Amino acid sequence: MKKCMKCNKQSAYYRPYSGEYLCKKHFIESIERKVARTIARHKMLQETDKIGVGISGGKDSTVLLYILQKIEKRFPQSSLIAITIDEGISGYREEGLKLATQLTSELGIEHFITSFRELYGYSLDEIVQIFKKKSKEQHTACFFCGILRRRSLNQVARNLKVDKLALGHNLDDEAQTVLMNIFRSDIIRMGRTNLNLRQVHDLFVPRIKPLREIPEREIAAYAFFRDLPFHSQTCPYAEGVLRNDIQRILNEMEAKRPGTKHSVLRSGDKIQQLLQIKQEIHLCPICHEPATEKICKFCKIMQNLQNHSTKNI
Ligand code: SF4
Repeated sequence: MKKCMKCNKQSAYYRPYSGEYLCKKHFIESIERKVARTIARHKMLQETDKIGVGISGGKDSTVLLYILQKIEKRFPQSSLIAITIDEGISGYREEGLKLATQLTSELGIEHFITSFRELYGYSLDEIVQIFKKKSKEQHTACFFCGILRRRSLNQVARNLKVDKLALGHNLDDEAQTVLMNIFRSDIIRMGRTNLNLRQVHDLFVPRIKPLREIPEREIAAYAFFRDLPFHSQTCPYAEGVLRNDIQRILNEMEAKRPGTKHSVLRSGDKIQQLLQIKQEIHLCPICHEPATEKICKFCKIMQNLQNHSTKNI
């Protein structure tokens, strides 16, 4: 391994897309600087913000919480709270929950934990089983998970009076999302993949993604160098989803042409700026939450569950 380009010590990390060799100390500093730069460039935070951080126990949200706490400490009027939503994925989520609890107690951060079951009466496992057995509509677990997670995080953040909801999406996630929207020809979604914090509706808590420019591999290296506890198991429902295929394609491209993921992210941002699709938002007549469709997707799922289940919710 070559010498660190900053201090001439033995390097610990090589960044192919920039050609940098960095020692552990300078690698850690570079990640923290990049996150702070992303926050500043996109004006993600205000000095008085109460920041809610969605944490799952995985490496991304673990690193996000750790770095945000370092940044937030500089602003005495701001505050931080960790939020975990337990989807109810048997044999998987328990470990993440344990590690998330360990992390927040080590960092001394308030931690709010709830679950799909507590909020909506069903775990994700139960929802998947009910739809599999009784409904003609066949969706992936991720479809239900995504809709319920978005809804629950927003509701919880709002109830906790959070100003910004920070999520651990990294560069790989963001580049995959850009390509997924292209693969699905979902132009509306591309136009509203909102970078700016324009609050679309009073009932939506603005979301920020401070890790969006950090590759997944660098987040893993940061967690390793900082010795942070994180859950590395893959969700059992992740098998066979489109995102995984796109991840493989992007990884191959990145290996051949370093910088590909950054370019895809930049393209997505430019497309979003050009399109600036302003969606009509109204209140769903059933749950009174903001929605783009007449009846929101969440209520459609709940109606289907009630029709197919003997349980009362
Ligand atoms: Fe939810 Fe799918 Fe992620 Fe599993 S892989 S946590 S089901 S979105």
